[in-house]
Amino acid sequence: MANFKKIRKKTVNYLDRCAFYIDTNNLIEFDLIKRILVKVEDEAIERLNEVLKGLRIYIGGHHRNTGKLGYFTNETYEFDFHKRRLTIFLAPIFKLGFTRWKKTEFGALLRYVWESFCHEIIMALIFAMKINTSLMEEAQGKDLNKFDEVSRNFFDDLLHKYDGYIPRINFISINNKLWKEELPEKFGFLRVLYNREIKQMKKHLAVPRYPQFLKVKIFNELRKIKLGYKYEYNLSELINYCIHNDRFEDFFKNNWKIYKELQREFYYKGKRIVLKFFKEYDIPLKEYRDSANRRHFFITHEIFERVKSVCLQRCIAKLESKYLEGYWEFKAFYAQCPICKTYDINDKVCQEFYFSENYNYFKELLLEGMQNAGSLEELNDESYYFGIPCPDCFSLVRNIQGRFEDLELVKQFVIAYSVCPVCHAKNHKEYLLDFFYEDERAELKELLIKNIKNHNRYEKLNINLGIPCCLCFEELFGEPPAMNLLADLI
Ligand SMILES: [Zn+2]
Ligand SMILES: [Zn+2]
Ligand SMILES: [Zn+2]
Repeated sequence: MANFKKIRKKTVNYLDRCAFYIDTNNLIEFDLIKRILVKVEDEAIERLNEVLKGLRIYIGGHHRNTGKLGYFTNETYEFDFHKRRLTIFLAPIFKLGFTRWKKTEFGALLRYVWESFCHEIIMALIFAMKINTSLMEEAQGKDLNKFDEVSRNFFDDLLHKYDGYIPRINFISINNKLWKEELPEKFGFLRVLYNREIKQMKKHLAVPRYPQFLKVKIFNELRKIKLGYKYEYNLSELINYCIHNDRFEDFFKNNWKIYKELQREFYYKGKRIVLKFFKEYDIPLKEYRDSANRRHFFITHEIFERVKSVCLQRCIAKLESKYLEGYWEFKAFYAQCPICKTYDINDKVCQEFYFSENYNYFKELLLEGMQNAGSLEELNDESYYFGIPCPDCFSLVRNIQGRFEDLELVKQFVIAYSVCPVCHAKNHKEYLLDFFYEDERAELKELLIKNIKNHNRYEKLNINLGIPCCLCFEELFGEPPAMNLLADLI
């Protein structure tokens, strides 16, 4: 009996090279910390031995000593200057990993939790290593989480003014090594937090408004659990990794909407490229059938790490040559506004014409024009324009081609009817242009156009010829203007 008690109580361990104790509180396997600490260089461990008496694991939250003298408290750890002890909090560590996972396009949740754990432990150790040991005692009497100047200055001395040698922890190399390893088998209390979150997420699946993106993530996570967490990635996550890259995001940075529109197409192209690559090199895929008998493919973390950059490069190269290179040529050809002749039509406008489905009709004409002419000049003359107008000109002509004569007419129309005949308020330009380009009341438009020149004369005769503003329209008819009703007023 006594023996059993002893074993249960023994949560404290020592690790090779380390003079400080490690108290897991039975919350996690000792191995989790061991895997990190064995990768820390000797020098750094020696320095930690000077500063640290102990490292312990807590769940978090209410165990913090914020405001008490001699404690430095952070989101995920706390340093007790009385006992020279670091306390690591699991709950906020889990939360950080979970939050990061929710935002990414790929990866298994436990991988992010593990990464977050490693990251926060290393950060806490780096903090401990920097402590100015000669100020250790003085720190016991200070509130180290205060933000006034005196406290800040002391804290600065405490962390940045140590005369002795402080070795570096090579954070990136340790992190890389940890990322390449298999996931730990046992996560202890982190697993409890994980299971709670999974339960919570399952409930979200039933909420209709819950974002689809997250629902897909949850479904994939559940499938990974079913496959014993041996396969950390759905194939679709690899494809997403390939098509959501900096290169394309930078390219479409002014046109997020178009980028989103293209994503579907990119995805299917990306999928073909990736599958071809897998076939070519005989890379194994784990098949999974869901309850509706749909097939899903999964890959291990090791394979994902091995193939991700090749797949990314292939996708970028193929998609770039298919979509973007043609675009460069297009943009270079139509770089000048055919109406006002300004150069450098911006990417936003050009991309909209080239990539958005709304402008398919214009795009086809523009591509045809490009094929039939050596330069943009050949497609334009004194009376006729063709090309991509700058945003200002396009708002006026709403077309890629036309006669300059008609452009003049629009301009005169907008000036002539710029004032509401009822209240004399100024009419919005867009409102007038909507009216001008509306086909339904061609006769009325004709009448107004015919009378552009006579407009002033009518006004002197007190005849209300014009386009009532939207407010007057609502006042008169009790509803917002529909273009085909305007004629009745005149
Ligand atoms: Zn222009
Ligand atoms: Zn009015
Ligand atoms: Zn208005």
